[in-house]
Amino acid sequence: MNILCVGAGLSGAVIGRKLAEAGHAVTIVDARSHIAGNCHTERDDDTGVMVHIYGPHIFHTDDKEVWEYVNAFTRFMPYKNRVKTTSQGQVFSLPVNLHTINQFFGRTMRPDEARAFITQEQADTSITDPQTFEEQAMRFVGRDLYEAFFKGYTIKQWGVQPSELPASILKRLPVRFNYDDNYFFHKYQGMPENGYTEMVAAILDHPKITVHLETRFSRDQAAQYDHVFYSGPLDGWFDYDLGRLGYRTLDFERFTYEGDYQGCAVMNYGEESVPFTRITEHKHFAPWESHEGSVCYREFSRLCQPEDIPYYPIRQVREKALLADYVTRAEAETGVTFVGRLGTYRYLDMDVTIREALDTADLYLAQGRTPAFASAPL
Ligand code: FAD
Ligand code: UDP
Repeated sequence: MNILCVGAGLSGAVIGRKLAEAGHAVTIVDARSHIAGNCHTERDDDTGVMVHIYGPHIFHTDDKEVWEYVNAFTRFMPYKNRVKTTSQGQVFSLPVNLHTINQFFGRTMRPDEARAFITQEQADTSITDPQTFEEQAMRFVGRDLYEAFFKGYTIKQWGVQPSELPASILKRLPVRFNYDDNYFFHKYQGMPENGYTEMVAAILDHPKITVHLETRFSRDQAAQYDHVFYSGPLDGWFDYDLGRLGYRTLDFERFTYEGDYQGCAVMNYGEESVPFTRITEHKHFAPWESHEGSVCYREFSRLCQPEDIPYYPIRQVREKALLADYVTRAEAETGVTFVGRLGTYRYLDMDVTIREALDTADLYLAQGRTPAFASAPL
C-alpha cells in the first residue's frame, strides 16, 4: 500500500516506521525545514549546547515497551527533571515537597507533621470533589502555597483565572511529604544523548520511508495514497471552516550567557508580576556535557493567532463544542486517520504519543484500515 504521513514529528515517524517495516511504501511530508516536530533539538554553533528549539522536553514514562522502543533508536542518558521556582523573593523546590513546605513556612516538620499541618491548617477539606484548578489547589495545598506557586503562573500560562480551568491540569503535579524533588513520578526518565532529532532521524531511517521537508500537505494530495495518517491540526484538515480550535502559543526570548546563568535547567516564576513563566537553560539538560557558554530561553505564553505555532490546546467549553463538531465531520471522512497532539487536539506527552502511534499502526496492520480516530479526542 501507499501510505502518507502528514507530519515528521513522533506521530508520523513512529507510524511510518511500523508500516514501512511491514512492507508498505511510506511518504512523510512536513511543512517545516526539519524533522522531529516540536521535539526538535539542534546544537548551537557558538556554544555547542544542545537546544530544545520548541521548549524543554524531558522523556518520562511508565510504559516499558515505549521505553524499549526509544532506546532501540538512540542512547538515553540518565536525567531527572528537578524544577525550581522563584516566588516572593526566594527560590523554592518543585513539585511541592517537604523542603518547599518547610522553607515556605519557616518550619522543620517531619513528613507526618507536614502532612497533618497541610491537611488540618492549610487545605480546604470542605472541597470534596474538586472540579476546577483552583479547587484542586485549595483542597490539596491550601491558599498560601496556591497563591505563591500556582495562581500567577497559571494565569500567565493559560490567560484565564484558575477557577475557569479543569482540575486535571494541576493533577499532573504531585505534592510530596518527603524530600523527593523529582518533577515526575514515572519509572523511566532520561534524555537522548544527542538530542531528539537524531532519535527521530534513526526512526525514519528505513528504505521504504521517503521524507519531504518544507512540503505543506493539501487535501488534493490524499487521493494519491491508500491511506493518510494526519498529525496536522484537526481543524486545518477542514480549512478551519467552522472556526479555529483555541490554542496557547509560546514566545521564546533567546539569550546567551558566559558561564552558568541560573544553575539549573528550569526556573519557574510563580508571580503574575513577572511576565514570563519560566527560564530554561539548555546545557543543564545534558549534565554529561560541559560548555562554557550558555543558551537560555525566557518563555512567554499567549493566545495563538493563525500565523503562530499551536502548542497547548485550550479545551474549554467553547473549544469542546467546536471540537465535537469537527469530530463528527472527521468521522465521516474515509481514508484518513487523525493522530497526535494536533490531529486529536489533546495535550500528549511524548511517551503517550508514541504509544498511540504504535497502537494505531498495529490496528491498521491487523485490519487493513483504521477509523478516523484510533484514540478518541473527546
Ligand atoms: P508535533 O511534534 O507537533 O508534529 C506535528 C508535525 O506536523 C509538525 O512538525 C508540523 O510541522 C507538521 N504539520 C502540521 N500540519 C502540517 C501540514 N498541513 N503539512 C505538513 N506538515 C504539517 N512531552 C514530554 O513527554 N515531555 C516534555 O517535557 C514535553 N515538553 C513539552 C513542552 C512544550 C512547550 C510542548 C508544546 C510540548 C511538550 N511535550 C512534552 C509534548 C511533545 O512535544 C509532544 O508529545 C510531541 O511533539 C507530539 O508529537 P506529534 O508528532 O503528535 O506532534
Ligand atoms: N503550574 C503552576 N506553577 C508551576 C508549574 C506548573 O501553576 O510552577 C501549573 C500550570 O497551570 C501548568 C500545570 O501546573 O499548566 C501543569 O504543570 P506542568 O509542569 O505539567 O506544565 P506543562 O508541562 O504543561 O507546561
